[in-house]
Amino acid sequence: MKTCYQCGGHISRKIIDLELEEGVIIKKVPAEVCDKCGEKYFDTKTATFIQEITGFIKNKRIELALPARGKIK
Ligand SMILES: [Zn+2]
Repeated sequence: MKTCYQCGGHISRKIIDLELEEGVIIKKVPAEVCDKCGEKYFDTKTATFIQEITGFIKNKRIELALPARGKIK
C-alpha cells in the first residue's frame, strides 16, 4: 500500500479532471490522490504529458498566417 510523501496518508488511484490553469482542464487523468491532503501523484507518462502542456501554456505562443493572396498592386 502506498502512502503520501507529504503527510503519510493513504493514496488511492483515481481518474481526475486536472485544472492546470483557469479554463485549461485535462479531463480523465489517471492519478494517485492522497485521501488526507489531496496531493496528486502521476506516472511518468502522465507527468511528461502534463509538463508539455504546462510549457505550452507558459509560452502562450501561437502563430497564425493569413491565407495566401494575389500580389497587392
Ligand atoms: Zn497526503
